[in-house]
Amino acid sequence: MVLNQIGPLPTLDLVDLGVPVTRDRPREYAVLQRALDVHQGLCVGDARFTAEPETLTTTDAQDMRRMCLTCPVAVPCGTYAAAALPSAGMWAGTQYPLEESENA
Ligand code: SF4
Repeated sequence: MVLNQIGPLPTLDLVDLGVPVTRDRPREYAVLQRALDVHQGLCVGDARFTAEPETLTTTDAQDMRRMCLTCPVAVPCGTYAAAALPSAGMWAGTQYPLEESENA
């Protein structure tokens, strides 16, 4: 299932780009969408969040995780990502796809 089949959102690049997900989780997606109706994710416009992880420096990753800690939509972002298992991107401080050991 590709997110943009549900409908694009204007306030989160990870969602706008239609990052494919492993599992369709419309309930968690709806909660994230409601949060994004009120707040903008701090990562909007920051291409590092949708970059290939091997292109990120350690400093980038630390900075991104710090941003996520203070983001107003961190909880629904992280909940959605943990449920849907996106194929790419950093979501609420976690890089996807998860390693095999994290994906149980
Ligand atoms: S928690 Fe992180 S990845 Fe999620 S919207 Fe906020 S800044 Fe972006």
